[in-house]
Amino acid sequence: MNKKYFHAIKLITSNCTGCTKCVRVCPTEALRVRNGKVRLDEKRCIDCGNCITACDFDAIRAVSDKLEMINKFQYKIAILSTAFEGQFPRRISNSKINNALRHIGFDAIVQESSLINIMIKIIRDYIKTHSELKPIISSHCPTVVRLIQLRFPSLLPNLLHVEAPMRILAMFLKEKFSQEQNLNESEIGVFTIVPSIANVTAAHQPEGTLKNAIDGAISIRDIFGKIIEVLPSVKQNKSNEIDHVRGMGWAISNIQAEEVNDGKLKTLAVSGIQNVIEILAKIENMQIDKYDYVVLNNCFNGCVGGTLNVENSFVTMSRILDLIRNTSYKEYYDKEIFTMYKKGSFNVKPLEPRSIMTLDKDIKTALSKIKKIDAITRKLPGLDCSACGSPTCRVLAEDIVAGKASLSDCIILQRKQKRGEK
Ligand code: SF4
Ligand code: SF4
Repeated sequence: MNKKYFHAIKLITSNCTGCTKCVRVCPTEALRVRNGKVRLDEKRCIDCGNCITACDFDAIRAVSDKLEMINKFQYKIAILSTAFEGQFPRRISNSKINNALRHIGFDAIVQESSLINIMIKIIRDYIKTHSELKPIISSHCPTVVRLIQLRFPSLLPNLLHVEAPMRILAMFLKEKFSQEQNLNESEIGVFTIVPSIANVTAAHQPEGTLKNAIDGAISIRDIFGKIIEVLPSVKQNKSNEIDHVRGMGWAISNIQAEEVNDGKLKTLAVSGIQNVIEILAKIENMQIDKYDYVVLNNCFNGCVGGTLNVENSFVTMSRILDLIRNTSYKEYYDKEIFTMYKKGSFNVKPLEPRSIMTLDKDIKTALSKIKKIDAITRKLPGLDCSACGSPTCRVLAEDIVAGKASLSDCIILQRKQKRGEK
């Protein structure tokens, strides 16, 4: 059965000039330009957001849930990403921000950072009880999970098979508030306020999740605008100050890796999709074997670098570092959450590979197609210029054999033919 994929990107083909810039930056060869317009292969897209940043013509846009969606629920909870507070200058107090969030419709506001203390203990426990799978690879970045499913399926067992902090919080909060508010879980809406399009996709189509407790994902960018709008009419309230500041460091890849390191574990942090691809290739080829835990993030430096943030990632990082200096972790239902983890409440299903290209079910036909691809690739100029609309000459050859392109798409060959060259 063909799986339908959710993606948090939208193609505005009327804006597309066919320049192929997006095709060249896509790490999974998910984009093509055909007949002068961009096209997406949904199976291959891992929601990294590179194409949105690359397009100068606003032909690829980020998509996230609208705030109005919260009105479908009786009780509305916002879970704020660890990158969230770093978007605001310090003169705007956290109590004002929280009151603004209440003003725009939320009943409860919970920071992802409140879960980080116990998350560190869960990860350490998982590493120790799965030492045969070393290195364990963090599964908190949805883009990285999808990249491994697509390009490094042999590493799927190495992924941390425990839900990410926001998902654990969502499950825990739905249960807690349904009891406290005397409501059904379906009447409680949990919305994550997120820094990247991958978080939006993961909210709607999580990988491996047994029970999805997240009802929607709103971009930090959208919520930031609303907060600024209502800020003049909200009051400061001392009791609303955030008290899980230390966990905000989780928005920075290096801090994530450092915090899991208890002095005995060896950890590594890598960010940026090309760096992540390089490291995964090294792990797959067993060129790296000394690490117990590897934190991988699509966005540079971690969630602070998300495309749905409003502030520059270095400024966000510096604000978070300022905030967390001289703070220590506080517990947040740590005992209850750890017990739930041990009982398997946060387990995920074994993650499965995403098959992108089956040449043919019949092995003979598949081998003959490989030969054809090789033969066509040899005919092509090998410049990987993307002018044909495919990212490389090899991919154009694959597209031709799949019946999705033709040799005449190569403009270099066309020119040669016009000049009568072979
Ligand atoms: S970057 Fe991609 S989507 Fe944007 S105009 Fe160029 S081909 Fe079209
Ligand atoms: S979001 Fe990333 S993977 Fe998806 S099409 Fe754009 S560049 Fe490719």
